Amino acid sequence: KIMSEILKTNNLVKNFDGIHAVDHLSISIEEGKITSIIGPNGSGKTTLINLISGVKPIDGGHIIIKGISLSKIKPYEVSSYGMTRTFQNIKLFEQMTVLDNILVVITKRNLWSALFEKHKDYHLKQAEEVLRKVNLWEKKNELAVNLSYGQRKLLEIARAISMDVNIFLFDEPLAGLFPEMRKIIVSVIKELKEHRKTIILIEHNMDLIRELSDHLIVMDEGKLLAEGNPEKVLSQKNVIEAYLGE
Ligand code: ADP
Ligand code: MG
Repeated sequence: KIMSEILKTNNLVKNFDGIHAVDHLSISIEEGKITSIIGPNGSGKTTLINLISGVKPIDGGHIIIKGISLSKIKPYEVSSYGMTRTFQNIKLFEQMTVLDNILVVITKRNLWSALFEKHKDYHLKQAEEVLRKVNLWEKKNELAVNLSYGQRKLLEIARAISMDVNIFLFDEPLAGLFPEMRKIIVSVIKELKEHRKTIILIEHNMDLIRELSDHLIVMDEGKLLAEGNPEKVLSQKNVIEAYLGE
């Protein structure tokens, strides 16, 4: 089977007054795989996702999506490139219900059909399916702001998978969750992979990294420290040292 690259960064740079958050980083992401990114705190993982998702402007280099080379990405263009993301510090429509948080995404992706009353049932069915998947259907009438931390993480994931995109950028989706909720998100990620979606996952738990990743990238001080087969990379001396030195 032919390997295909869906996303690439070429000499990507982001500076914050003197800090090289992302420092001439060139990485390549394979379609339909789970690529995990690890690295000590402050190594530039979130900044990388912010650049790819247009949240922060690029200072240098390019992001190449499906062969298109970009030096500027606007947040509103991100879904048109077939991407979505979640945030390390969760972002939701706080004053909307759980159900409306999902319906907003689903009706947006079917804007034309949303004009017709008869499609409302269809949208509701889709929203129900997604919310049942993350065990939030019972909470459908709660305001997002009133959910627990774990439920908020689940809702953010549910919003992401409601989008009609191929590339998912997950910034620590499993952090701080109880095992039961972690299991739900792990199974959502595995299901996305079964549907040949491309996943970029930032995660600290090495057991989960081993379980989920096809490819592992290690960042340190904005640079690429190591990459390759997860098991091999995690046994590399410089990778172990980067963590012990934290
Ligand atoms: P990670 O996600 O790997 O923990 P970050 O990408 O959040 O790392 O941060 C990388 C570096 O950039 C850190 O030194 C951090 O303090 C700095 N940084 C990130 N965002 C900002 C910002 N908005 N303003 C100033 N410095 C920032
Ligand atoms: Mg981070």
